[in-house]
Amino acid sequence: MGLNTSQYQSVMRIYEQKQSKNRATLHARYEEVYKRSPELKALDESVSALSISYGRQLLNGDQQAMASLKKDMASLREARQELLVSCGFAPDYLEPIYECADCQDTGYIGSQKCHCFKKAVCDILYEQSNLKEILLRENFDTFQLDYYPLNYLETKSGHTYQARAMMVETLAACKEFVRTFRESRGNLFLYGDVGVGKTFLSNCIARDLIEEGFSVIYFSAPTLFNILAQGAFDKNRPESRDMQEYIHECDLLIIDDLGTEFTNNFIVSKFFSCVNERLLNKRSTVISTNLSLDTLADLYTERAFSRITSNYTMLKLVGDDIRIKKKLRRFSEPDRP
Ligand SMILES: [Zn+2]
Repeated sequence: MGLNTSQYQSVMRIYEQKQSKNRATLHARYEEVYKRSPELKALDESVSALSISYGRQLLNGDQQAMASLKKDMASLREARQELLVSCGFAPDYLEPIYECADCQDTGYIGSQKCHCFKKAVCDILYEQSNLKEILLRENFDTFQLDYYPLNYLETKSGHTYQARAMMVETLAACKEFVRTFRESRGNLFLYGDVGVGKTFLSNCIARDLIEEGFSVIYFSAPTLFNILAQGAFDKNRPESRDMQEYIHECDLLIIDDLGTEFTNNFIVSKFFSCVNERLLNKRSTVISTNLSLDTLADLYTERAFSRITSNYTMLKLVGDDIRIKKKLRRFSEPDRP
């Protein structure tokens, strides 16, 4: 998986749409202003007539005529500006409209990709991974605490947890993570059994941050490991290089289900250097796993894994498998006549 040609075209189409939408808005503004002030329209016509004469003088090389035309144009522009404001419009009402002034909605500054390009790529990836739809269903507003029992006996450890109270705290920690995201750029590690709501929680976080305009990329661990492997072996493919760049640079990287991938030492080391680089560059990561911390430490070596445990807020989720609970609840609802 990488940013293939059609995805690249989709990104460029976003820019074209922005440009044409803003051109249409500007056009409508001109009509509105001209309707309210025909004098302003006349002034604009004079300015463009003068510009044409100026162009002609430029070709003729008549310096004196050019200087006087330039002066005329400046005073016309000034008069036009005053007229615009006196009609009750903002002074910049007829200026070109850009969502990103840095690249003027082209995605590029010279030959370099603009910072907004990254966001556009994430939006496309989201669009295509159906995540947008999921985020409508799975967000902080739809999170249900009553799926978590007050007390939960974990059979494998024999330990009883106050599952709901723990979840209240976890939920608060996730909301805090979102609230302070811009300044603190934290990292979360969500662990617990299958079906206790880890993916749901990462979706809640993703939705809020996407809405705030951050670039968020979501991967299941097997997909991410595949991409890391591809990049390692296929350096000549630009789209795979691009994808590596997004993985390293997006504001939030969500890695779901760590420990489920089949992999080798080389790719594992790529993974940890990715985690490490994100830490050094203050890019946030949310990792979730079904495995216990001991198992993960065995799987990835203690030393590598300790980078995570010492730099992430570790949140343990306990409870019954919510997917099963949801199904049971559906079955136990009485049939309506
Ligand atoms: Zn831009």
